[in-house]
Amino acid sequence: ARELGGSRVEFYLPELGQQARRRVELEAALRDAVLRDELSLAIQSQFSPDGAVRSGEVLVRWLNGPQGRPVSPGEFIPVAESSGLIKPLTLQVLSQSLQILKELARHGVQCPLSVNFSSILFHDDAFIDGVIELIGESGVAPTSLVIEITESLFIDNHAGLLDNIARLSFFGIRFSLDDFGTGYSNLAYLKKLHLSELKIDKRFVDNLPRDDDNRTIVRSILSIARQLRLKVVAEGVEMAAQADFLAAHGCDLLQGYLLHKPEPAAAWLARVMKNTQ
Ligand code: C2E
Ligand code: CA
Ligand code: CA
Ligand code: CA
Repeated sequence: ARELGGSRVEFYLPELGQQARRRVELEAALRDAVLRDELSLAIQSQFSPDGAVRSGEVLVRWLNGPQGRPVSPGEFIPVAESSGLIKPLTLQVLSQSLQILKELARHGVQCPLSVNFSSILFHDDAFIDGVIELIGESGVAPTSLVIEITESLFIDNHAGLLDNIARLSFFGIRFSLDDFGTGYSNLAYLKKLHLSELKIDKRFVDNLPRDDDNRTIVRSILSIARQLRLKVVAEGVEMAAQADFLAAHGCDLLQGYLLHKPEPAAAWLARVMKNTQ
C-alpha cells in the first residue's frame, strides 16, 4: 500500500505511537513553516561582568506551530536535523542574523552575534559554500559572527568536518564550543577546532557557588581556557551569587535570565541601538 503515495499515509497514522504521530505532524508543519519563512529570531544578550552588553546569542523561534501553538527549539531542532530541514532553516536564521548585524554596523554599534549550528551541517561542503556566499553577499564583517557548535562534534568525527570548520575560520568567522563539559572532549582536540570561546553549560552554573563539584569544575574550565587563550561565556546565570562567583574567577561573559531573557530580535535591536546612542 505504501507505493500508493501520500494519500495512504493517514491510513497508518492511528497505528503509530503518540510520539511518532507528533513527529510526523511536526515535520510536515515545519516543512511548511520553513517554506514560508515563518520562523523568527529571539536574541539573548551576553554581558561583561561590569554589566555592559557585549554580544548576543540568536535563538530560533517557531511561534505558530501545529494548532497555532509555539514549539520549542528543543523539540523541533531534532526533527529538522533528521529531515534535512536544518539546512534551509539555518540559512534563514543566518540570513535574518546578517540583517541585524547590518543594522548594527550601519549605526556604528559593535555587537557580535552568535548563531547555533548543528554538527551535521559541517558534513556538507556545498552547504558551507552557501554559508560563505551568504555572508560575503551581505557585506557583514565575518568577524562579527560567531558560530556555536557542540561537543557532539567529537563523537561523529568526520574528516570533512574539521576542513569545513577551518574554511569558515579562515574566512574570519569565530567559533564557540557550546555546552562545554557535557560531552567527551579530548582537550587536544580543542586546538583543532579553531575555537575562540568556550561556553560553560548551565548544569555547572546551577548551584554555584554552593555546590563543591561545580565550583571545582568551573574553576578548572576557566583555568584551561586561560591557558588556551579562549574566552569563556557562562550560560544559565539566574542568580546574583552565580554571577559574582563567575566574575570573581575571571569569566569573560555572562548570559542568563538574571541579566536578560531572550527577546524578539526587532525589540532587542531597537533597545541595543537606543542604549548605545
Ligand atoms: P542552547 O544553545 O544551550 O541555548 C540556551 C538555551 O537556554 C535557550 O533555550 C535559552 O533560552 C535558555 N536559557 C538562557 N538563559 C537561561 C537561564 O538563565 N535559565 C534557563 N533555564 N534557561 C536559559 P531555547 O531558546 O529553548 O533553545 C534550546 C536549544 O535549541 C539551544 O540550546 C540550542 O541547542 C537549540 N537552538 C536554538 N536555536 C537554534 C538554531 O538556530 N539552530 C540550532 N541548530 N539549534 C538551535
Ligand atoms: Ca547555544
Ligand atoms: Ca548552550
Ligand atoms: Ca546548554
